[in-house]
Amino acid sequence: MCKEASHLLSWYQHYYETAGKAKRCPQCGQEHIVFNGSGVRTAEFWIDDDGDGKVVHVNDIPIRRFRCQDCRHSWQLLPPGLMPRRRIQLCVVAKGLERLLAGDTLAQIAELCHCSLSTVRRWIPWVADVADPADLMARLVEVVGAPIAVPTPAIPPRINSNPTWRRAAKVFFGFEALAAALRMEPPGLRSVVCAVLGNRDRHTTYARPSIPEFGIKRFGGQMGIFVM
Ligand SMILES: [Zn+2]
Repeated sequence: MCKEASHLLSWYQHYYETAGKAKRCPQCGQEHIVFNGSGVRTAEFWIDDDGDGKVVHVNDIPIRRFRCQDCRHSWQLLPPGLMPRRRIQLCVVAKGLERLLAGDTLAQIAELCHCSLSTVRRWIPWVADVADPADLMARLVEVVGAPIAVPTPAIPPRINSNPTWRRAAKVFFGFEALAAALRMEPPGLRSVVCAVLGNRDRHTTYARPSIPEFGIKRFGGQMGIFVM
């Protein structure tokens, strides 16, 4: 195991050992919660090191399980920054998007991110659907507290000509701007999405990527988590 993987693993082990019991059932809201064993996860992260950065593979991340004694619902306590049901973490996806915008081909990104070409192809529509760029901008104005001119980086023509790719680029920039305004760690795609999702599940599969909190016109007032 490389030193970055071992560092990440010890952080997650510490979280596993020190995180207390869940207070409330996410299903029924009752408070009769018991520990229900544990499991392990595998995850891949993008780590910026002295060079250009690299993908780090971490095995055996320990995850606690809880069960509600009222409704029998059981769930996992995912540590902060770890996405449910995804091996490849959003920091890797963000690096892929960043390289796409910088002109890399999908094949180059697949090689850099240690994944298949089809995986990289799926990332783009996924990012495009996670949030509405207009909602992200509205949220940014709310966070900053005044209308602001957001510096929008130039979108290369080959991306601009494809509506899904163009939207993915706008969502990507929107998350970066929001993370900067919230003083969250870049990449914004990871820090903001993980903060909003918390420990909830089922919002992150490819089949249903959108996160309700970002549809602020439709789901007004659910973004309290952004006041940090
Ligand atoms: Zn329950």
